[in-house]
Amino acid sequence: MIRKFSKFYIPHMKLFVADFSSAFFMSVIDLIFPMLVAIIIDDIIPNKNLNMMYMTAGVMLFLYLIRAVLNYIVNYWGHVLGVRIETDMRKDLFNHVQKLSFGYFDKNKTGHIMSRLVNDLFDIAEFAHHGPEDVFITIITIAGSFTIMFIANWQLALIIFALVPIMLYFTIIKNKQMRKVFAEMRIKIADINAQIEDSISGVRVVQSFGNEWYEQKKFDIGNHDYRRTKEESYKIMGEFISGVNLMANLLYLSVIFFGGLFIYYDQITVGVLIQYLLYVGIFIEPIKRIANFVETFQKAASGFYRFDEIMMIEPDIVDKKNAVKIGKLSGELEFRNVGFSYNDKDLVLKGIDLKINPGETVAFVGPSGAGKTTLCSLIPRFYEVDEGEVIVDGKDIRDIKLRDLRDNIGIVQQDVFLFSGTIRENIMYGNTNATKEEVINAAKLANAHDFIMQLPNGYDTYTGERGVMLSGGQKQRISIARIFLKNPPILILDEATSSLDNENEKIIQQSFDRLSKSRTTLVIAHRLATIRSADKIVVLTEAGIEEEGHHEYLYSKNGMYKKLYDAQQLT
Ligand code: ADP
Ligand code: MG
Repeated sequence: MIRKFSKFYIPHMKLFVADFSSAFFMSVIDLIFPMLVAIIIDDIIPNKNLNMMYMTAGVMLFLYLIRAVLNYIVNYWGHVLGVRIETDMRKDLFNHVQKLSFGYFDKNKTGHIMSRLVNDLFDIAEFAHHGPEDVFITIITIAGSFTIMFIANWQLALIIFALVPIMLYFTIIKNKQMRKVFAEMRIKIADINAQIEDSISGVRVVQSFGNEWYEQKKFDIGNHDYRRTKEESYKIMGEFISGVNLMANLLYLSVIFFGGLFIYYDQITVGVLIQYLLYVGIFIEPIKRIANFVETFQKAASGFYRFDEIMMIEPDIVDKKNAVKIGKLSGELEFRNVGFSYNDKDLVLKGIDLKINPGETVAFVGPSGAGKTTLCSLIPRFYEVDEGEVIVDGKDIRDIKLRDLRDNIGIVQQDVFLFSGTIRENIMYGNTNATKEEVINAAKLANAHDFIMQLPNGYDTYTGERGVMLSGGQKQRISIARIFLKNPPILILDEATSSLDNENEKIIQQSFDRLSKSRTTLVIAHRLATIRSADKIVVLTEAGIEEEGHHEYLYSKNGMYKKLYDAQQLT
C-alpha cells in the first residue's frame, strides 16, 4: 500500500523535497533554542557577558525569521502538494471508473461511487501533505531532543524517556481501534449517500405512493447506524487524547522531580533543567499532534484502500492484444449458438442462432424478461457472451477494437439520458466534430428541428436542472438526432416508443423509418403493429427462439406470434 501511495509523489518531487527540507530545518531551529537558553542561564548571565547576550539574541532573531519563511513554505507548498496529489488521484479514478464494464455498474450504486470520487480523496489530500511530513517532524524532534538531552546528562535522559515507549504503545493500540471504527464509518456514510441519492432521484415515486414515512424509516436506520459508529469513534478519540495528555503531564512532572533531585545532588545545572523542560515541550507537541494525525491517517488509509480497491478492478471487457481496427461495417450480423448469463448461474440466453443480412430490419417480440434487451446489448459488447459468438462482417466482435465496434452501432432506448448542457451539445454527442449544418440536418431528420427552434435559445437552450424541461417525446427525438449524426450501419431500437403517446409515436416512427433505411436494424417493439413490415420477426421466449419469419408467415402459422398479435388487436 505504501509503495502504491508513494507513487503519487513522483510527479511532484520538487514540491515534496521543498516541503520536507523546510520541515526539517524548521525542526532543527526549534531544537537549537533550548540549547541557547541553557547557555544564557548557565554561562552568560553568571558571567555578566552582555555582548554574548546581544549576539545570542541576534542569532535567535535571525533563525526565527528564517523559520517564518520555512513555515510559509510548509503551509503553502505543502498543501499545494496535497491538492495536486488529490486531483491526480481523482483523475485516475474517474478515468478508470468510466472504463469499467456494465456489470460493475449493475452491482454498485451511484452514491457509493460518488462518495469514493469525492469524500475519500479529500481525506487523502489532507494526509498526503500532513502525513509523511508529520511523521518526519516527529522523528526528527524526538530523536534530536533525545540526543541532545542524552549528551547533557544521559542518566536523566534515560529516566525521562522511559515514558515514551509507553506512550507509543498506547498510541498503537488506540490506532488499531480507530482504524476499525473509521473503516466502518466510511461504509455507513456511503450507505447514507446512496440512500439519499436513491430517495431523491425517486422522490416522485415516493410521493405518489405517499411513502415518505417509509423512506424516512429506512433513512433513520442508516442514519442511526452512522451516529452510533461516529459516537464510538469519539469515545476512542477521547480516551486517546486524555491518555496522551496525562502522559505528557507525567513527563513534565518527572523532569521537575528527577531534575530537581539531580540538581540537589549537583549532577546538573538549573540551565540544563530548563533546557529539559523546553525539550519536553518540543517533542510532546508532535506526539500530541499524532492524535490528529491518527485520525487523518485512518481516514486517508481507508480512503486509499477503497481507492485502490476500485483501481484494481479490471474492466471485464477490453480490447484483446491483437484486436483489429475496422472502418465502417456493412452491417452483416450473426449470432452463433450464443449463450449468456448475468451471474454465471442462470442462463438468460441459450443456443441463439440468427443471421441478419446488411440493411435488414429484424424485430424481436416476446414476453418481458425473455432476454430481448440482453441479446441486443451483446452486440456492442456491453456484456460478453458466455458461449458461442457474435459475428459482424465475418469477424468475431471480440477480435475487433471495442471503440471501432461501438462506432458502428447506434442505440435508441426507452429512457433517454440527456447531459446537462445545451441541446446542440447533446446532439453533438453523436459526433463531436459535426458542423452546425450537420447538427441541424440531423435534427430535421429526427423531426426535432421545429420544436428546437421554438425554444427560447434554439439549439443553445440548456436542458435539465437549470434549463428547459423537455417532454419524453422531445428527449427521444434529440436522442434520435444523435444517432443520425453518428450515422452507424447497425441500429438497435429498444422499445424506444413504448412510453410515448400515439401522436409522438407516429412522429418518431416516421424518423425511425428514415433512420433504418439502408442500415441493419434490430427493433424490440412493444406494439406489434409497428413491426409488421419488418424483413424478419423473431419470437424470443425464455426457452430461446420460438419462431422466426415475416409477419404473414408467422401469422398463418398459428403459433405464439399470432396469439400475441391477436391479443393486442383486441385492446
Ligand atoms: P427483455 O428485454 O426481453 O424484457 P431482459 O433482457 O431485460 O428481457 O432480461 C432478461 C433476463 O435477464 C431477466 O430475467 C432479467 O431479470 C435479467 N436481467 C436483465 N438485466 C440484468 C442485469 N443488468 N443484471 C442481472 N440480470 C439482468
Ligand atoms: Mg427489454
